[in-house]
Amino acid sequence: MCGIVGYVGSRQAEGVLIKGLKRLEYRGYDSAGISLLNGSIHTLKCKGKVENLERLAEVSHPSGGLGIGHTRWATHGEPNDVNAHPHNSSDGSFTLVHNGIIENYATLKAELKRKGYTFKSETDTEVIAHWITEVMLRTGASFPEALPQALAQLTGTFGLAIVHRDYPDRLFVARRGSPLLIGVGDGEHFVASDPAPVVEYTNKVVYLDDDEIAVVKADGYVVTNMRSIELDKKVHELVLNLEQIEKKGYAHFMLKEIIEQPESVSDCLRGRLKTDPVHIQLGGIESVMDRLVNAKRLIIAGCGTSWHAGLVGEYLFEHLARIPVEVEYASEFRYKDPLITSDDVLLVISQSGETADTLAALRTAKEKGAMVLGVCNVV
Ligand code: GLU
Repeated sequence: MCGIVGYVGSRQAEGVLIKGLKRLEYRGYDSAGISLLNGSIHTLKCKGKVENLERLAEVSHPSGGLGIGHTRWATHGEPNDVNAHPHNSSDGSFTLVHNGIIENYATLKAELKRKGYTFKSETDTEVIAHWITEVMLRTGASFPEALPQALAQLTGTFGLAIVHRDYPDRLFVARRGSPLLIGVGDGEHFVASDPAPVVEYTNKVVYLDDDEIAVVKADGYVVTNMRSIELDKKVHELVLNLEQIEKKGYAHFMLKEIIEQPESVSDCLRGRLKTDPVHIQLGGIESVMDRLVNAKRLIIAGCGTSWHAGLVGEYLFEHLARIPVEVEYASEFRYKDPLITSDDVLLVISQSGETADTLAALRTAKEKGAMVLGVCNVV
């Protein structure tokens, strides 16, 4: 899952979007793109760094105060210019960016192909654009009416941001299982998959929950559920500052993170370990201490580097706490009908807190009555 940014207001959207995508670079990605609406939709996208996209934008300088941007981490189709987002609808009336995976994309794609739709990319994302169009044609519904109907028929996860030629004053966004927030400004609004692109403009954000759709304009926003019922959403105040999300002069985020490890560990334990008298206070797990102490087994699940961190954890927990530990790849765990009981504790690790397979593993363990704890880098 990668990054989404959107803007509507009186600034030139191009600058806000490119800068926003740079702020999302820490997540890793393979391609980037933007679409701006100014009478018609102007899309630029390419494989590789946001810098490559910036060079494209320097040539054509798309203008307009409304647009969307994306950094892609390919799941369906190789990283290349064509598969990069945004993806257009078949008639070019709207364009969209997507984070996540559409699990029934193959079935929908086969049906759309039978109906004569042609596909430019190999992505699951392009299926969403054609599917919305198909629902409009089939039901005679307008775009805003067709959107929830079309999304209801998707399985999988999506964070979506859409611009439509016939609605030049607004962004359409939707979420299921892939984070999305609205940054609330004064006469301008932002959309993003995490606070990083928004934080320099506003500290007021509204987090969308699963199966919510929002229409976002310069002067306000409306959030509805999939049955088009308007919701009263809480505005949160961000505590994150810009410095925390920048590279602090390091060439790469990885380098920064490696060098900051001692600082991160002491930040994490500050105020929680006391030596005189010896006292350990870990607020987040105090309420589950009994269950933790009586657990028969600890299962650690994660993907990639988190999984490797779990392997280190296995040695430490077994050595210090003398409790059997198993480390599982979350992507395997979720599909293998795991043996879990309410005596087990599942510890999931995900830097972003958003890793789809890890979230699925978490849900599976919860359903089976195990206690679940999470370690992630985003509150
Ligand atoms: N599944 C989509 C693709 O492969 C989106 C990937 C992402 O979240 O960046 O294009």
